[in-house]
Amino acid sequence: MEFAVESSLKTMKSGEGVRRNQTLICAPLMSDTVDQMVDLMLKAKSKGADIVEIRLDHLKIFNPYTDIEKLIKVCPLPTLFTYRPIWEGGQYDGDEKSRFETLQLAMELGADHIDIELKAAHEFNDFLHGNKPGKCKVIVSSHNYDSTPPVEDLGNLVASIQAAGADIVKFATAALDITDVARVFQIAVHSQVPIIAMVMGERGLMSRVLCPKFGGYLTFGTLEAGKVSAPGQPTIEELVNLYNFRLLEPDTKVFGVLGNPVSHSKSPKLYNEAFKSVGFNGVYLHLLVDDVPKFFATYSSMDFSGFSVTIPHKEAALACCDEVDPVAKSIGAVNCVIRRPDGKLVGCNTDYVGAISAIEDGLLGLHNGSMGNSSPLAGKLFVVIGAGGAGKALAYGAKEKGARIAIANRTYDRARELADLVGGQALSLAELDSFCPEKGMILANTTSIGMHPKVNETPVSKEALANYMLVFDAVYTPKITRLLREAAESGAKIVPGVDMFIGQAYEQYERFTGFPAPKDQFKKIMEN
Ligand code: NAP
Repeated sequence: MEFAVESSLKTMKSGEGVRRNQTLICAPLMSDTVDQMVDLMLKAKSKGADIVEIRLDHLKIFNPYTDIEKLIKVCPLPTLFTYRPIWEGGQYDGDEKSRFETLQLAMELGADHIDIELKAAHEFNDFLHGNKPGKCKVIVSSHNYDSTPPVEDLGNLVASIQAAGADIVKFATAALDITDVARVFQIAVHSQVPIIAMVMGERGLMSRVLCPKFGGYLTFGTLEAGKVSAPGQPTIEELVNLYNFRLLEPDTKVFGVLGNPVSHSKSPKLYNEAFKSVGFNGVYLHLLVDDVPKFFATYSSMDFSGFSVTIPHKEAALACCDEVDPVAKSIGAVNCVIRRPDGKLVGCNTDYVGAISAIEDGLLGLHNGSMGNSSPLAGKLFVVIGAGGAGKALAYGAKEKGARIAIANRTYDRARELADLVGGQALSLAELDSFCPEKGMILANTTSIGMHPKVNETPVSKEALANYMLVFDAVYTPKITRLLREAAESGAKIVPGVDMFIGQAYEQYERFTGFPAPKDQFKKIMEN
């Protein structure tokens, strides 16, 4: 392949137990009672955490002397004790003296780490009078729930945390944009002391997953989805099994899917499982992006090697590319962007390949595979719903195969524009139900109508579906949408979006890695 990344293929042993970095996974434990906390510790160990953060401020009934001793004694993992006050986002609302006494007690009883907030650190140091048990590491932390400051301010923050006697520096900021994370990486990678640097919120996910690459001391992984101690924390399961956290290294190449929304995307599962199985040193992330040009301008190093692009960024991404392949240029949208070794961004469109071949296969099934050399799409009336990236790809691809094209779109002007481009007819969405110039048409939905969670929506009435011999839906969550279910009930052949997804993913995988896609594995993953 043109963009082969031979050097990235390492002999990584797949399977449990392989670990290529020292970054710890810390499970934040929050419960009302000490007994529940003990249960959570055991669960954390079984899920694969390396350390637990015991959030004392969440305990409703708490006797420091007996409970801390018990918690340390029974904990199967190293401990971090945190007694977070309300003024720093926690639940403790008592006086500082009692809080300091409790943290001091935890240190004396054998805690491996304690966390003290920067705002209280000097007072706490005075309280300790230098009597700090040697074994216990002090994490001095700062939390900013509003924003991520400029890099100079973050540098000054780290210096003040170090000056406050931190063995380990911790700061957490809020991500207003995914590019905020780059400033935090810049600080983490240059830190002379162990550092925990997190960017909260879905836009900050990269900071939590990539910390082994950028030298982080630990990341937080929750026991269950949604049970977080700060916004945006992934589960331990996601870190270990979805993002292959244990295998990440400083030279791991970063890939991902740019979209908004994007958390539903199955692509990270597909690519990361494949990377792991063949020993490719890469990681593929969900990238919640608001501003595409800003994203590419910020993440411009060779570490950020390739991207899938999804709704609504395919057209904006094309404008950011230094080179665009001719097919993508005609479609006006890219769904795949590769950073070449010379740093240039090259865009292409793999959407139509998977969809068109899946539709052709479906039609061949109807014709018992006997169409000679010509495409079974030739001469058919192909109705595309939608005029965005996927709509353009399908219309262009079907046109290439000799189909006649009609485009129906919510925004009629966009339907008109695309129809003019491919020499077809334009319709409004409202006209679709009564549109029947002939029987035996092909219908392709390329809008997000019917996508999870709005699974009861459909772009066209069931009655109108009787006019179609084959119906394709680009939506793949759920696999069988209402549109496909009703089409099958009306007697049409149906082609699910997952077939398009797998087809475009084969192409992208080969461009990302330079190696052939493990096709059977892709199919198996998507079936599951
Ligand atoms: P896009 O470029 O943003 O285009 C979205 C299209 O959907 C536009 O035509 C838009 O109409 C229409 N639309 C959006 N919401 C609508 C609504 N509520 N009612 C009516 N029309 C609506 O997005 P895209 O990249 O083409 O993706 C579109 C869909 O295809 C997504 O669901 C995506 O997940 C799916 N897809 C699947 C695969 C696969 O492999 N299976 C690959 C690519 C895309 P307006 O012009 O009026 O805004």
